Amino acid sequence: MLLLKNCFILDKGALKKASIIISGETIKDIIFGEVNGDFETIDVGGLTVFPGFIDPHVHFDDPGFTDREDFETGSKSAIAGGYTTVIDMPCTSIPPVINKENFDYKLNIVQKKAFCDFAFWGGVTPPQLKSGEYVNSIKELEKRGVVGFKFYTISGMKDYPRMEVEELDMAFRVVKETNLICAVHSEDFRLVNFYSKFLEDSKRKDPLAWCEGRAYEAEPMAIWEVVGITRNVGNKLHIVHLTTKAGLEIIKWGKLKGIDITAETCPHYLSFTVEDLLRIGPVLKTAPPVRNEEDRCALWEGLRDGSIDFVATDHAAGKYPEEKSHKSIWDNYAGIPGIQLAFSVICTYGFHENRITLQNMQDILSENASMRFGLMRKGKIEKGYDADFSIVDLNKSFEVSPLDLYSKGRYTPFEGRILKGKVIKTILRGKVVYEEERGFTGKPTGRYISH
Ligand SMILES: [Zn+2]
Repeated sequence: MLLLKNCFILDKGALKKASIIISGETIKDIIFGEVNGDFETIDVGGLTVFPGFIDPHVHFDDPGFTDREDFETGSKSAIAGGYTTVIDMPCTSIPPVINKENFDYKLNIVQKKAFCDFAFWGGVTPPQLKSGEYVNSIKELEKRGVVGFKFYTISGMKDYPRMEVEELDMAFRVVKETNLICAVHSEDFRLVNFYSKFLEDSKRKDPLAWCEGRAYEAEPMAIWEVVGITRNVGNKLHIVHLTTKAGLEIIKWGKLKGIDITAETCPHYLSFTVEDLLRIGPVLKTAPPVRNEEDRCALWEGLRDGSIDFVATDHAAGKYPEEKSHKSIWDNYAGIPGIQLAFSVICTYGFHENRITLQNMQDILSENASMRFGLMRKGKIEKGYDADFSIVDLNKSFEVSPLDLYSKGRYTPFEGRILKGKVIKTILRGKVVYEEERGFTGKPTGRYISH
């Protein structure tokens, strides 16, 4: 038995001093006050203890794109950022996770490298819809424990193309039978294609052209389409990396109408706008792009009032510097390795700047994602849950340096910023796996978890 003493944990919205008793990998008891007994003890020294954070949207690129990231470097970034569970996307590994063979292949490769626990998203492609194979492959992947299926209304990936509205409709119907989630990258293909081509043809190469090309209205248009399909079909829908106030309005409407819809946004959309992209350049290039101040404020408001359910990082590392320093914005990789700094960003600009409460922060970083994706033992400090903890100093400030990142992509748009709130220790299923001072304390012990 292990005792964590001198912890501060949230109880009904307020921090209270507590002791946490751990038996093996599981939380056995939480006691508000001192505990006596024969325990191996870790004195947390009055720091704040959160349930290990959960990132439901990462691209760890393994196998297939491991020159950008792999499961070892990605999951180390997660653990160093206080994240004990991630859900990896199906499309940025080769082959994509679209059937049980590909699933088994990927699991076999990544489970030896994982420092954090992990779940998988499954996928469906248009050729599988044409052949009719998708009906079985979705059910096979459901049996393997995927949390849901990822769809793109626009895609730059050769092996994982976009889907037409009628294809989404077909796939959602089958996913509905599994009761799993349909997650959608929502940007209208026609609009983005039209404007991007027009700007490229006009020889525009500046960062602003990226934002103009990925037209603002493309997001609400695509969200409207998939919400419409969902209203008709009755599946569970999740909108990934929401960026616009207009898109948020539709999600609010959908929730009011009783449609089963959730949404996530990312630290970069909460921290940066188009002006920052002009200043920072390709390092801040993402898809969708950063938007306007009005949107940034609306996203915080959405997190506060619950219309946005949680924060995900969309962690996606490009090769640095070669994929992130081309003169033409079009030639640069779209993505940021964000997981290691996500908590500190949310703590700094959310909690310390009074946009969200401490309870909000815990909910959007841990519990809400575990509930939505059915990760039954994750996301809460409660009896019977996995003993996953992120132990943080809410008031410790540090200057962001890309050299401190465990990701292969050692770049960040937060470079040079002073963030307030730092992960001091991470505990995965009862074992300390990371300490700020000492780094990683052992071999990878992450485990696959099913929905
Ligand atoms: Zn993504």
